[in-house]
Amino acid sequence: MMHAASMLITQFHSRLSELDSVGGDGDHGATMLRVVERLEESFASDLSIDFKERFYQAGWNVLSADGGASSSLIGAFFMGMANSLGPNSVSLSCIDLATSFESGLQAVRSNTAARPGDKTMLDALVPAVETFLTSAQASEDIAYSLCRAAEAANDGAEATKRFSARFGRARLLGDKTKGYPDPGAVSIALLFKGFYEGYTGSKGD
Ligand code: ADP
Ligand code: MG
Repeated sequence: MMHAASMLITQFHSRLSELDSVGGDGDHGATMLRVVERLEESFASDLSIDFKERFYQAGWNVLSADGGASSSLIGAFFMGMANSLGPNSVSLSCIDLATSFESGLQAVRSNTAARPGDKTMLDALVPAVETFLTSAQASEDIAYSLCRAAEAANDGAEATKRFSARFGRARLLGDKTKGYPDPGAVSIALLFKGFYEGYTGSKGD
């Protein structure tokens, strides 16, 4: 899952930086390359580590990636994912993963006052996590729930084109960011698409 997410970010990193140059400092693609490199590293090593420890370490590795706002929030997300898990969690059910995504989102929310509609990564992350949870609660499996979550993240990122930035560096440009999607939201959509593709071994369009 991490590898597929990493491949998508690598494929689109220049676009992410281009989008960040609309209202920000143009470094988002480079930051995301460091983020996915650290995520892949954290999940590739020592398969005996349980998920709680692994998410915690992954989050910590991303936090120390020396990026900007986005790496801090994505780091907080993975560290937060560890919170809902017990020790020795060596496998995750769909509901476990949903609960874990939810506690990750909670950690992100406690690190920013941005809410959906503010043109940030929350516009993709909130619908992705909520859709995954609703699907898991309806007893759907991980593949289907990831597919729905990836669609919701993509729709959320697309919707940011209509919004004015109210957080991050882009807030200084406000209305001038209309017409372009928020780069952080696009990254979250790519991550969830990659999780889906990696989990199912499929390659979507
Ligand atoms: P920086 O803005 O520090 O250069 P990046 O360019 O890597 O960081 O990431 C920019 C993205 O981070 C934005 O598109 C937005 O999605 C997200 N972001 C920035 N600031 C905030 C914030 N205060 N709350 C939520 N998301 C934010
Ligand atoms: Mg930037």
